[in-house]
Amino acid sequence: MANAIYSSLPTTVFEEMSGLARSLGAINMGQGFPDAPGPEAVRAKAADAVLNGYNQYPPMVGLPELRQAVAAHYSRTQGLDLDWAGEVTITSGATEALAAAFLALIEPGDEVVVFQPVYDAYLPLIRRAGGVPKLVSLSPPDWRFTRPMLEAAFGPRTRLVVLNNPINPTGTVLPDEDLALLAEFCVAHDVVAICDEVWEQVVFTGARHRPLIGYPGMRERTVKIGSAGKMFGLTGWKVGYLAACPALTHSLARAHQFLTFTTPPNLQTAVAWGLDNAGDWFRDMPVDLERSRDRLVDGLRREGFAVLPSQGTYFLSIDLKGSGVTEGDRDFCLRAVKEAGVAAIPVSAFYETEPVTHIVRLCFSKGDDVLDEGLRRLAKARELSRAAIR
Ligand code: PMP
Ligand code: GLN
Repeated sequence: MANAIYSSLPTTVFEEMSGLARSLGAINMGQGFPDAPGPEAVRAKAADAVLNGYNQYPPMVGLPELRQAVAAHYSRTQGLDLDWAGEVTITSGATEALAAAFLALIEPGDEVVVFQPVYDAYLPLIRRAGGVPKLVSLSPPDWRFTRPMLEAAFGPRTRLVVLNNPINPTGTVLPDEDLALLAEFCVAHDVVAICDEVWEQVVFTGARHRPLIGYPGMRERTVKIGSAGKMFGLTGWKVGYLAACPALTHSLARAHQFLTFTTPPNLQTAVAWGLDNAGDWFRDMPVDLERSRDRLVDGLRREGFAVLPSQGTYFLSIDLKGSGVTEGDRDFCLRAVKEAGVAAIPVSAFYETEPVTHIVRLCFSKGDDVLDEGLRRLAKARELSRAAIR
């Protein structure tokens, strides 16, 4: 029969809420994907590569043109000096990159420090690889960690720490101070950092994404993970990257070769072209998203919702308690999708222990009409909830 780790897992909250939205015809502000189709020139390159390009197995570690483009992109945007030939591996999405990293780097019994709220794929993958998660719980409204929190989590058996920055679901972009503190712990405890930086390109005015691999002592002990799906707003493409020093890359590539072996070559070609040529997209995309965020924030505040800050990602959060709603986040989200026609994500789903149950994540990478109608429906959900729980 099936193993206990997987047989006991629920369907992911994203799939659950999108499924409800589809079957009930609700507006979907839950799962994170843009309504816009993504940059046309990049999609045209992919179409051309399907029709006229090479559609057989590409090299296992990825097309050289894409590995070069990834290294060049990170050099331009984050000042990193990656050797494309020895330090970049192309994967089928960041999800595969995460799986490869855990399979390649965890020995059974190793402890892995993970922050809650935690992206849903991490814990099952870590456990299946034999790792023992050590959870550090972050709390609203700042979602920051402190030295005592790290002191409690790091110990002699710690092998890895997993950092998602910018953070999904909270929209937090961690400040320099926190990253420097984490780097200090990684060096002191001889720990490798798995950095899920898929949201690195979606950062708004006033915040700056800093890659942990750039901190003192981290160059040789960081696995940096990116996703073209997030960079280009093409979430279904599932083209991701692993960047790490040659010794780590050697093992990561061995794990990748037996997970998917390769990633569709036509999409790789298009992503390579996009990284080299879509400078306008990288400039405009966050500006457009910031405008959508502000439109939703203003509307939510007008309707009486308490909104937490969002510095990046496609997401902002509302604080139910602060919005006069006493219902828990999951009940509120079920009510919102079933009775008011709008899907959202309960942040408690990102906790394994001691969940924060009064925060709801909303995806704002949507057109103005969808945001405005979604807002009306959220306001209705709030009224229904308040009337029911009185
Ligand atoms: N990590 C985080 C934090 C994410 O938000 C996502 C997807 N939204 C992923 C990983 C997965 O990325 P991909 O679709 O490239 O597998
Ligand atoms: N990362 C997406 C989100 O946070 C969901 C991806 C998925 O459905 N697995 O909404």
